[in-house]
Amino acid sequence: MSTTNAEKTGAEQTGGDNASGQQAQSTVPFAVPSFAGEVSDAVVKVLDSGWVTTGPQTGAFEQDFADYLGAAHVVAVASCTTALELCLRAMELPPGSPVLTPSLTFCGAINAILHAGHRPVLVDIDEDTLVPSVATTAAAAARTRPAAMIVQNQGGYPVDVPALTEAAGLDRTRVIEDAAHGPGAARDGVPVGANSYAACFSFYATKNMPIGEGGAVASSDQGLADRVRAMRLHGMSKDSWRRYLPGGSWRYDVKTVGLKANMTDIQASIGRAQLGALPGWQQLRAEIVARYDQALKDLPGLVLPQRSLDGVQHAWHLYQVRVQNRDALIADLEAAGVGTSVHFIPASHMTSYQEILGADECATVPVTDRVAEELLSLPLYPGLSVDGQDRVISAVTEALRTRS
Ligand SMILES: *Cc1c(COP(=O)(O)O)cnc(C)c1O
Repeated sequence: MSTTNAEKTGAEQTGGDNASGQQAQSTVPFAVPSFAGEVSDAVVKVLDSGWVTTGPQTGAFEQDFADYLGAAHVVAVASCTTALELCLRAMELPPGSPVLTPSLTFCGAINAILHAGHRPVLVDIDEDTLVPSVATTAAAAARTRPAAMIVQNQGGYPVDVPALTEAAGLDRTRVIEDAAHGPGAARDGVPVGANSYAACFSFYATKNMPIGEGGAVASSDQGLADRVRAMRLHGMSKDSWRRYLPGGSWRYDVKTVGLKANMTDIQASIGRAQLGALPGWQQLRAEIVARYDQALKDLPGLVLPQRSLDGVQHAWHLYQVRVQNRDALIADLEAAGVGTSVHFIPASHMTSYQEILGADECATVPVTDRVAEELLSLPLYPGLSVDGQDRVISAVTEALRTRS
C-alpha cells in the first residue's frame, strides 16, 4: 500500500485526530484496511500462549473459513501467490506445461506459473466483464494444448468456472481459481470457493478480508488439500505443532519438495476475528457502489463497471471505471487528493514476461491491450466515510466536466 491512513471512519474522526480542522484538506487514500475490534485481544492471546507459528489458531481459522465459504477443505498459507503455486505443484503436471491465464491479472499469478516450472499462455478478456469469456478461452486453448488453467474473479466478479473449464477442454481437476478478489462473491447462490477443486484466496492488506498478509486454498478434494498442506511447509510429513502435541514424535519425512509458505497463528487469530466483520463490510462496499453508480452514471466519457447481475453476487473488491486519457484523470484526482489505482497492467506489458513469452505470445490479447489503457479503480473500502465518498464523486465530476 502506498497510502497513509489519513481517511478515517466517522467514529475514528471523533477520536481526537490532532489534525482537527484539516480533515477537509486530507487525502482520500486508494485503500485503507479495516480491522475488527476483536483483533487486538486475539493477537495478544496468541503472543501470550507461547505458540506463535502454525498451530491451533491456524487449524481453527481453516475451519472458520471453510464454514464461511461452505467449502469441504481449507488450507491456510502465506499468500494467494504461494497458494496458486502450491496448487499448480500439487497437480504434478509435466515440467513446462502450458497453463492458461488472463493477461489482465496480477503479476504474482504469472510468477506462480513460472515458479512451478510451467509456461503461461495468455487469454484475452471480454470487454464488458473484464474476464476471459468462453470464446477467448477457447481461442487460447486452440493455440496450445493447455494442461491447466487459472481463472480470476476480476474486481470481485465471479467467473463462470464450469463454462470456462469446458471451453478450455480441461477436467475440473486442472482448473485453479485465483479468488484473491473473491470472498463475498457468488454465482447462482454458490459462493466462490464453495465447490471449487482449487480456489486461492488472499488476505493481503487491501483485500476484502485483510489480515495484512496471508492466503488460503479451498478445495472440494481431500487429496489436493492434503498435498497442499504438506507442501506449504517444506513437504514435511508432520508440522511442528503435530510433532509437539502429546504422543507426537520428533520424526518426519520429506516426500515431496515443498515451499516455506505456512500461515502463522498470529495471522490466523487476526483472520478469525476479521471473519466476523466481513459480512458487514461487504454490505458497506455494496452501499458505496450504489452511491457511486447513482452519482457518476451520467458523466460524459465515463464507463461504469458492467454488471450482468443475473444470478451473480459481486464481491465489490474494486470499483473499476473506464475512461479515455486515463492517466490525465489519475493526475487530476491526485491533485484533488484522491488516490486511485489500476488493475492491472497486463502481464503482456511487463518486461520480464515479454522476454520469457516472446512478442508473438504477447500480441495475442488485443482487447486486454486496449481496455487496460482505460481502466481506473476508485477508492472502495468499508472505512470510506460518506464525506470521503463525496470527495471522490466531486473530484471525478469536476475533472470530467472541465474536460468536455
Ligand atoms: C492480490 C492478488 C494476488 C496476490 O495475493 P497475495 O496474497 O498478495 O499473494 C493474486 N491475484 C490477484 C488477482 C490479486 O489481486
